[in-house]
Amino acid sequence: MNQPGSMMDRPLLVSAILEHGENQFGDQHIVSRETDGALHRYRFADMARRARQLANALKPLGLRPGSVVGSIAWNNHRHLEAYYAVSGSGMVIHTCNPRLHSEQLAYIINHAEDEVVLFDTTFAPLVRAVAPSCPRVRHWVALCDAQALAAMDLQGVGSVLAYEPLIAAEVDVFDWPECDEKIGAALCYTSGTTGHPKGVLYSHRALSLSAMSACMPGVLSISPQETVLPVVPMFHINAWCLPYAALIGGAKLVLPGPRLDAASLYELMETERVTVSAGVPTIWMGLIQYVEQNRLRFTTMRRTGVGGSAMPKALIAKFNDVFDVEVRHGWGMTETTAIATMSSLGTAEADLAPEERHALVAKQGKSVFGIELKLVDEQGLTLPRDGASQGELMVRGQWIVERYHKAERTALVDGWFPTGDIATIDPQGVVQIRDRSKDVIKSGGEWISSIDLENAAVAHPAVAMAAVIGVKHPKWDERPLLFIVRKPGQALDKPQILDFLAERVAKWWLPDDVLFVDSLPLGGTGKVQKNELRQRHGHVFDSD
Ligand code: AMP
Repeated sequence: MNQPGSMMDRPLLVSAILEHGENQFGDQHIVSRETDGALHRYRFADMARRARQLANALKPLGLRPGSVVGSIAWNNHRHLEAYYAVSGSGMVIHTCNPRLHSEQLAYIINHAEDEVVLFDTTFAPLVRAVAPSCPRVRHWVALCDAQALAAMDLQGVGSVLAYEPLIAAEVDVFDWPECDEKIGAALCYTSGTTGHPKGVLYSHRALSLSAMSACMPGVLSISPQETVLPVVPMFHINAWCLPYAALIGGAKLVLPGPRLDAASLYELMETERVTVSAGVPTIWMGLIQYVEQNRLRFTTMRRTGVGGSAMPKALIAKFNDVFDVEVRHGWGMTETTAIATMSSLGTAEADLAPEERHALVAKQGKSVFGIELKLVDEQGLTLPRDGASQGELMVRGQWIVERYHKAERTALVDGWFPTGDIATIDPQGVVQIRDRSKDVIKSGGEWISSIDLENAAVAHPAVAMAAVIGVKHPKWDERPLLFIVRKPGQALDKPQILDFLAERVAKWWLPDDVLFVDSLPLGGTGKVQKNELRQRHGHVFDSD
């Protein structure tokens, strides 16, 4: 007979993270770039106090436990307060991606049943555009003071309130309810490149566990020794749970607001002595170019977490070898709350040549504790972990979605979430994402990894960015088409890049054509919109 454990059953709650941050690290700093560019500074204890004031302000707005409060906001201190106040009150913070098309934005606000929406002043035009299509939203709250609100044109929006007077009217005492850890705390929709976006309702438990995992030494190592700058947006996948992890670990938190250009990020990293950052590869590509062009160095940055799309090996090498910044490359998706795998090298890799180390980091690493992975073939049969067999990556774990918000059916297949990513897993458990299943190029019955081709192209010194799509071909089914953005002032033509690639990939992988473009279409989360490229360049290659 099993014996029941004799331990307490205490829930994992977002409010407990706030209380921990305040009680253990109340003097720790939060620095936030405001929408007007100014830097705002305060401490964990100040943030917790204002979060309690906001929690008190939610009730008079007609909100109850379970209500959904939308946010359309940058990474800044008021958004952080809303993260804690809304979830801590037993309500759901629905973080909306402002880069969604306004019709999709209205769709998700309505689908989620947002009753109140908090928004940064930057997004006033967006609010004007969507408000008439969102009749259920009772109040729109501008994340600013009364003066800034008065300066905005919000005609036709309905009830608009300013955040500062709203919370100033409230006391800073609030008893956080002791909720069930399994209730929804935060809601995020997928980007929805096909069909409507789908919502993932994160529970308190999922957020807490994922945030604790992010603090682990082998993940992002968040502790009082670190200053963390999440470039990943708080409006998508909870900024990989770093706004929670910073309070769990006691790290100084630096929020970059709307200024995500390389010069502003670099300046913030240097002046605030940032040691850990996290973001998508496109951000780091821009940052490295800026730092190189201006002959700068990182004086405090130790480590950067990268994910969202594949980080090219060439960029990993540059960060490590030239700038002494360790790259940790992870994989995750909206459906996995935050980080599911992480490449973090240990003593076993100490003797590897730099080239081999970078190649290993360019893979997406091992699953973090709590996450299990497997590969399946098209029949659903499990494939071996031999580093060669490619199949769909299936994931399960304590912070993985079970069903999309309001969906009647589970999203799982035999208890596993099908990610739509094609991957390999080697005997040591290292995952390599080869492609999205919709992006992989099927040529003559074989697969060409668009990620591998892009990484090979980005290694050329004149290439700033690269993207590869499959284009219909009468003989081979599909063939690769390569898009290149050259670095400013650099010359590069088609024969040169093809010669360069010929030394790095199999001959039959070589793109049938190369298009040089000024920029690539980027989606709401900084990823190349291959759908758009496919639509624009969906011609058929001639048979040859
Ligand atoms: P999203 O839900 O918008 O964050 O997108 C998740 C998808 O991004 C995953 O299913 C992958 O296709 C892709 N992705 C995330 N991290 C990586 C990575 N490190 N390398 C390659 N693809 C990635």
